[in-house]
Amino acid sequence: MAIPNFNYLAPTTLKEALTMRVSHGAKSSIMAGGTDLLIKMAHRNHHPEYVIGLNCVADINYIRYNAAGNLAIGPMAKLSTIMDHPDIVSHFPALSHSSGVTATVQIRNMSTLIGNIVNASPSADNATPLLVLDASLVIMHEGGEREVPLHEFFLGFGNSVMKPTELIKEMILPMPGKNSGSSYQKISTRSKVDIAGVCVSAFLTLNDAGVITTARIALGSVAPKPIRVPQAEQVLEGQKPSIELFRKAAALSREEAKPISDMRASADYRKAMVEVLTIRALEASLLIATNKTH
Ligand SMILES: Cc1cc2nc3c(=O)[nH]c(=O)nc-3n(C[C@H](O)[C@H](O)[C@H](O)COP(=O)(O)OP(=O)(O)OC[C@H]3O[C@@H](n4cnc5c(N)ncnc54)[C@H](O)[C@@H]3O)c2cc1C
Repeated sequence: MAIPNFNYLAPTTLKEALTMRVSHGAKSSIMAGGTDLLIKMAHRNHHPEYVIGLNCVADINYIRYNAAGNLAIGPMAKLSTIMDHPDIVSHFPALSHSSGVTATVQIRNMSTLIGNIVNASPSADNATPLLVLDASLVIMHEGGEREVPLHEFFLGFGNSVMKPTELIKEMILPMPGKNSGSSYQKISTRSKVDIAGVCVSAFLTLNDAGVITTARIALGSVAPKPIRVPQAEQVLEGQKPSIELFRKAAALSREEAKPISDMRASADYRKAMVEVLTIRALEASLLIATNKTH
């Protein structure tokens, strides 16, 4: 299907990209890898008059530590770089796994982590890992910048708090403390190269006495947006890990899931799988947190 005509703008700095965004507002879209945007345009679901490409902007394809010691990921950092990056593999295993199972090699070589998130799809592979890793987004606007925690970013299907005159400057991942582990679990209709029918991520930190001090669980493809499950997280915190405890948290996750039935899975199957995947994600996170595997 042919893409309707549009004006392609090629800024060379993020500041210039922002000026273009401010002038054209809702008539514009930012393009990173284009693997979501161009498909929507071809299917006539979205018709921006101006496409602001980030390809010519220098030095935004980075993964580096910022002054606060947290990991900053630039808007052109590709999924294929993220999946193998040594710091992401060591400290953010849920994200190295999710980026490595997003789409195909060719798509991962083109597409960005930030594009996957701004798309605000409930089934985006990298959304639930980033929610449990407590990521935030730095959003540039005419008056400066604001940092938005990811759990406040998503509003609903394809909808976020980002305004049409804004753009994402970078993503920030706080460094997990010692004795921490995270895991991403996904089930899709086909074994590979498919959007998640249901997905779950978990993150655990334990103190030296083996008590869970921080627990986060996030669910994908079971609500109009990726969601955290505070009820299940509270059950885990302050307790020593055990299979009975994980089962309790998994049952609460199942209760909070409000899936629909579609071509990928029935609502009942999705609810059942939330329970299974929550236990798997917690067990895998615990193994990493206690250094039994990596
Ligand atoms: C064949 C195929 C298979 C796929 N499989 C999967 C899959 O298994 N799992 C999955 O999660 N996704 C999948 N996708 C979707 C897509 O590849 C990912 O969402 C990808 O990460 C998007 O990144 P991108 O850089 O290409 O984004 P783009 O298409 O460039 O942008 C996506 C959205 O983000 C906005 N945007 C991008 N960067 C910025 C920024 N800095 N500031 C403001 N707005 C911005 C764009 O305007 C657009 O709305 C698939 C796509 C295809 C074509």
